Amino acid sequence: MKAERIKASIRTIRGWPHEGINFRDVTTLFEDPAAFRSVLNRIAGWAEEEEFDIVVGIDARGFILAGALAYQQHLPLVLVRKKGKLPFTTISEDYELEYGSATVETHDSPIIEGKRVLIVDDLLATGGTALAAARLIRRLGARAVSFAAIIDLVELPGREALTKSGIDVYTVID
Ligand code: IMP
Repeated sequence: MKAERIKASIRTIRGWPHEGINFRDVTTLFEDPAAFRSVLNRIAGWAEEEEFDIVVGIDARGFILAGALAYQQHLPLVLVRKKGKLPFTTISEDYELEYGSATVETHDSPIIEGKRVLIVDDLLATGGTALAAARLIRRLGARAVSFAAIIDLVELPGREALTKSGIDVYTVID
């Protein structure tokens, strides 16, 4: 499937959640099986070559992609969640938002140590969320960290920030 066809399956909501923001809404892509499969197949094709050991999903739309990838690649799935959602012992990382800050957490899981990890989310903007997730995964002893998303908002410096931090980035569309 052509990238243009995938793009056409994503709804843009102007002025949401506030004035000046064009929100890219992937729920319409999830409703379109051909577009959803095409996105997953592209990320999976890249991931197969990279030979990851573990898939990490970012709360919440990242879970949908990460779950499908983990199933398809026969890999363990680890969750990075917003603060206060995980029931066992957690580690956490704060990051800056446009207004204020946020916190992500993951379980203090021994399975990450020494592994090649792929972090997955729906969209890369400033890179703040992905970098916070990567810090968590590195604290757990990952050998290498990469990141994949459907959309790269190229007017924002997310890809550059991740690359600078030693994280390989794969995105399906700009
Ligand atoms: P970043 O941390 O600035 O890179 O923003 C990326 C995070 O915010 C991801 O978890 C996205 O799900 C979410 N996000 C930011 N902008 C959008 C958007 O336009 N559509 C969907 N998610 C967005």
